Amino acid sequence: MGLHLTEGYDRAPGTNSTAYNPGEPSLNMGLVRWEPKKMPLKVWISPGLSLPELSFSELQKVRPDQVYQMLVTQQDPQVNPSGDPFFGLPVANGWTPETNVQVQAGISEWSQFQNEGLFSFTFTDNPREAQIMVFFVDAFRDSTSPGGVMVGGNTCAQVYPLAQAMSVNIQQKPVIIELSTLVNSSPEKMIGATAHEFGHALGIKAHSPYRDDIMHENRIVTQLSPADKATIRRLYKSKPAYVM
Ligand SMILES: [Zn+2]
Repeated sequence: MGLHLTEGYDRAPGTNSTAYNPGEPSLNMGLVRWEPKKMPLKVWISPGLSLPELSFSELQKVRPDQVYQMLVTQQDPQVNPSGDPFFGLPVANGWTPETNVQVQAGISEWSQFQNEGLFSFTFTDNPREAQIMVFFVDAFRDSTSPGGVMVGGNTCAQVYPLAQAMSVNIQQKPVIIELSTLVNSSPEKMIGATAHEFGHALGIKAHSPYRDDIMHENRIVTQLSPADKATIRRLYKSKPAYVM
């Protein structure tokens, strides 16, 4: 999520590479990460597409199902001869092809961990094979905080208890990242917002309490901190309670 005006904590000296708890707050801080069998994760960055407008509070429960339905619904070939599952979606105001270069740069901040064998990902042109999808919005509805600063991004994912994932074959719904073109109006902001949201997509569900981390809710940085790196390493070496 986003850019608010509340301030985070400063660390005690010498603790700047200490991991924070990445667990899912709504699931008792249970750890969430991708199953190894899903690798390499395929990431599709839409050409600026904007999903149907929803209020911010509805996104989390609606988006993954909604996009999944778009992917599996057969459209009338007379109406949509291309077969594009997102035929008819508008392009977000303020999006340009250059935006996707910035998004790719933000996601690629996490690519260093591929060399360590934690996870792997690749970009795809085919939304039907993607586990993680990026869409855009000029501004989120209802997202204005009391401080008056709007949210720069949002990530929605469905997670499954590990035991369930191991016993039945679950039809994975895509993880949906949405980025605000209005809030992230400079390349640096778009890169930073993307790196933050992709951290959520990888499984860092809770925000860091420290403002010098990319995963702080009101981050002041645009790059991963030593603590962000320690956190993703610890997460991918832990047994999760939930998986994607
Ligand atoms: Zn966030």
